[in-house]
Amino acid sequence: MFQIIFINICILISVLFITSQVFEHVDLDANSSFSVKFIIGIIGGILGILLMYFSIHITPTIILDFRSISQIIAAIFGGIISITITGFILAIFRLFYLGLNCYSLIASITIIAVSLGYGIISKLKFNLIIKLVIMFIYSLFVRSIYFIIVLKNRELLLCTLASLWIGSIIVCGLVYLIVLYLIAAHNQLKKLKEESSKDFLTGLGNVRSFDVFFKTALNDAKTKNEKLSLLMIDIDFFKNVNDTHGHPAGDIVLKELGNLLINTCRFFDMISRIGGEEFSVILPDCSSSQALEVAERLRQAVEKHDFILSDGKIIHITISVGASTYPETVQNLDQLIQKADQALYLSKQTGRNKVSIIM
Ligand code: GH3
Ligand code: MG
Ligand code: MG
Repeated sequence: MFQIIFINICILISVLFITSQVFEHVDLDANSSFSVKFIIGIIGGILGILLMYFSIHITPTIILDFRSISQIIAAIFGGIISITITGFILAIFRLFYLGLNCYSLIASITIIAVSLGYGIISKLKFNLIIKLVIMFIYSLFVRSIYFIIVLKNRELLLCTLASLWIGSIIVCGLVYLIVLYLIAAHNQLKKLKEESSKDFLTGLGNVRSFDVFFKTALNDAKTKNEKLSLLMIDIDFFKNVNDTHGHPAGDIVLKELGNLLINTCRFFDMISRIGGEEFSVILPDCSSSQALEVAERLRQAVEKHDFILSDGKIIHITISVGASTYPETVQNLDQLIQKADQALYLSKQTGRNKVSIIM
């Protein structure tokens, strides 16, 4: 029995690890798409088949295995859709695996009963651990009833039930720890990725994500033959804000300016903080006149905005903006940044609190 438990644990670890790699970039929850839930259902089915293949043969037609773990995994990560697919695959496989007879029919009905129960339990509003415990106990009871029905030899029945309960506790306990580890690793990786592309202070994109956004926008503009505009924004005399009110006050202003940019731009414009008090806005499918409109709207919004510091003091700031547009102000997409920078420099040189574009 321990040899089979060991093989089952190896199969479960391998499949769980591969699955976690396949869904590395996907959050597995109730909001997952149908295709994700479908794939989870198929993986659950394959995992269950493998577990049945490497099972303990109690009699030539009756087997003991840990297939219900594959059903638990499908139900927890994919809900009703996944568990229905997994249950269907396992029921069909079990029906024919050791020959079609009354034992295989009862075994298939047991699989359907367990799947139905799991589907209902997955919908209950309990936390993960309580759901797992209910599923675990439910499947043990259903499968115990199955063995009580099909095994007439009392000694063999007791031995099988003991193996089922002890084996399930060992395998489920281990699988639970592995799943917890994989979920924690998945969440950590996701957090790390988000943090590496986000500016910690404003929550906007940082320089790295600006590069990614910009490359994507360039490709889109090329392939769709669309216009593309870029705004470079710099706060005027920001050093004075820090010197007068302190660095933390400057941080509050930067954060608030980030919100103002988000609220003033279009939802598909890509806003990044690319330096201390420097921001950029990528405006896809946007002509130079539209870009100037957006920039002027931003400039006015900032000028009028009351920046409230932590001590309740209200301060005002202004921004200088440089704009460039492909193909109106630059013929080559690679010159967009350079031309917007030059326009920003022009705004600074000619009085600040203004928008410039160099044709
Ligand atoms: P200009 O109008 O020419 O742009 O003047 P400026 O004072 O804004 O420009 P300068 O480059 O001299 O100063 C930028 C200031 O931005 C200096 C720096 O202390 C401040 N700064 C940069 N990053 C941060 C930050 O994360 N938090 C705060 N509070 N200040 C920052
Ligand atoms: Mg600057
Ligand atoms: Mg500045």
